[in-house]
Amino acid sequence: MRSTQVAIIGAGPSGLLLSQLLSRQGIDSVVLESQSPEHVQARIRAGLLEWTTVQLLEAAGVGARMLREGLVHDGIDLAFANGHHRIDLKGLTGRSVLVYGQNELQRDLVQARAASAAVLWQVSEVMLHDCASTPRVSYTHAGSRHELRCDFLAGCDGYHGVSRASVPRAQRAQYERVYPFGWLGLLADVPPLHEELVYAHHQRGFALCSMRSRSRSRYYLQCSLEEDLAQWPDSRFWDELRARLPDCYAARLLSGPSLEKSIVPLRSFVTEPMQFGRLFLVGDAAHIVPPTGAKGLNLAAADVRVLWQGLTEFYRGGSATLLGEYSARALGRVWKATRFSWWFTTLLHRWCADPFAERLKEAELEYLAHSAAASRSLAENYVGLGFDQPEAP
Ligand SMILES: Cc1cc2nc3c(=O)[nH]c(=O)nc-3n(C[C@H](O)[C@H](O)[C@H](O)COP(=O)(O)OP(=O)(O)OC[C@H]3O[C@@H](n4cnc5c(N)ncnc54)[C@H](O)[C@@H]3O)c2cc1C
Repeated sequence: MRSTQVAIIGAGPSGLLLSQLLSRQGIDSVVLESQSPEHVQARIRAGLLEWTTVQLLEAAGVGARMLREGLVHDGIDLAFANGHHRIDLKGLTGRSVLVYGQNELQRDLVQARAASAAVLWQVSEVMLHDCASTPRVSYTHAGSRHELRCDFLAGCDGYHGVSRASVPRAQRAQYERVYPFGWLGLLADVPPLHEELVYAHHQRGFALCSMRSRSRSRYYLQCSLEEDLAQWPDSRFWDELRARLPDCYAARLLSGPSLEKSIVPLRSFVTEPMQFGRLFLVGDAAHIVPPTGAKGLNLAAADVRVLWQGLTEFYRGGSATLLGEYSARALGRVWKATRFSWWFTTLLHRWCADPFAERLKEAELEYLAHSAAASRSLAENYVGLGFDQPEAP
């Protein structure tokens, strides 16, 4: 039977980043992933990194291309009532964010881990055993059944993974909010509408004008959960996006053929605790936020940071103090980001025919635009809260 120090389930951003950071501390890990590397690198998902995430990626030795090709953004734009207002993130907080596609980040991480034999791709029937005392993972790889013994298990296998499901329901609390709308996303090789992200509140629904580079745009429209992609030819998407933007932006929006189009439902979800014996839940395996606040990937990186520090302390000095605090430390940040993502989503979307609620949102947007205190609160949460735990090992 093969053995390792840390068995990691899932080679998304959390799993690969954790494995990469651990390897730099001389800690051995094996990553088990159900998909192929090509599939994992092709997934179009998040695209905005907080600076603490950027720093963690640099510490992992995978920051060079990101810093070369990523776009530093010092502000965001709020569009409403046929006008727009810039929130000066840098001026209000001293911090910026970096636009860099999750698929590019995955590519950097896959490349970094490719040099080691630490990732097993296309495994199936992954099962976790004895998480409380002597953890093991069994799995099928290349047609044969195997077992992997380990000191610790990191469940980095996303919302639909096996790790959280391995913990009896009675041992964990679960908090959930399912939003009655989704996002219809389109990726196209056209220059972005604006040099910064535009968040548009409109009576037809929310729209987001985002980007992946200076020549590749990512746009989203709030849509119903029953929406059928086949009913959305590119021309309809572009017309609807123009209709939700202020005139000054609609007039200069450049359209082009879509490279990808998809619908995602929006959900807030948190499971507590995030540790069960020697199993630690990390990233989307433990929590999901709606993408409005761009927190999903950043929260995953923040979990990795806390777990990496705990494992490093354990293997360096034999102390399990930080490891024991993993769940509490991670959840403190998770709940703050969950609150922000819920608030920003509720403020910007339109889904019920309640004129009172809509007038309140319009008043709040006006307040956000013209109150330095309200703008600062938005900016502080958007760029990401600081850490109250120890510095990197
Ligand atoms: C469609 C979509 C769009 C998104 N858009 C945004 C966005 O715009 N902004 C934002 O901030 N966040 C966004 N997110 C969230 C963000 O992508 C996630 O927060 C981030 O990917 C979390 O990383 P993770 O590694 O924890 O989980 P994941 O990226 O989900 O990785 C989990 C990995 O585990 C693997 N796996 C699953 N089950 C098993 C198993 N049984 N055995 C082995 N391997 C398994 C999966 O194949 C996957 O590779 C989006 C998510 C989705 C799904």
